[in-house]
Amino acid sequence: MSKYKLDFVTNSSSTCYVCEITGERESGMDADAEDLGFYLCSNGHEYLEKYRLDHKKFFPKEKAIEFLEEIIKESKCTDKTGRYKEYLEKLKIDNEFADEIIGDLTEERSFGRCSDGDGSTILCPICQMEYIRDKDMLKFFLKLNGKREDVVKLMKAQYPTYEDMRRDLDG
Ligand SMILES: [Zn+2]
Repeated sequence: MSKYKLDFVTNSSSTCYVCEITGERESGMDADAEDLGFYLCSNGHEYLEKYRLDHKKFFPKEKAIEFLEEIIKESKCTDKTGRYKEYLEKLKIDNEFADEIIGDLTEERSFGRCSDGDGSTILCPICQMEYIRDKDMLKFFLKLNGKREDVVKLMKAQYPTYEDMRRDLDG
């Protein structure tokens, strides 16, 4: 009978991730985001891990200290307070290994989040506004320049066909 085959089909699934920065795609059977080189931030952004920001530039020691102090002060992520306090102390006295400590800290996918699950937003280029997605930019322009319907009318008037539009916009 085909029971085995059915099990096989239901147990494995193909996943596909699309990088929100470059549009690159990766897919694989039974692969999770990490296996495919993707990073998912907790705001739902998905992008190739290599595009995460460099902590040396975007999360320097002063910023890390400030961030940790705030979490501790506001009693967020109480289950992690002990560990964060340790990191904070280390950072305050240790200049030589600050980069290494922050590197380790930001490697944790739940860094700064109070629950496990998707990754941290701290080095996400989209969350940190280092990369603005086309769809956000479009919304911004629409907000500045009136209604969507007006833009649609304008585009229809300007381009007789879809091909004309693509040629003009992509070329
Ligand atoms: Zn993000």
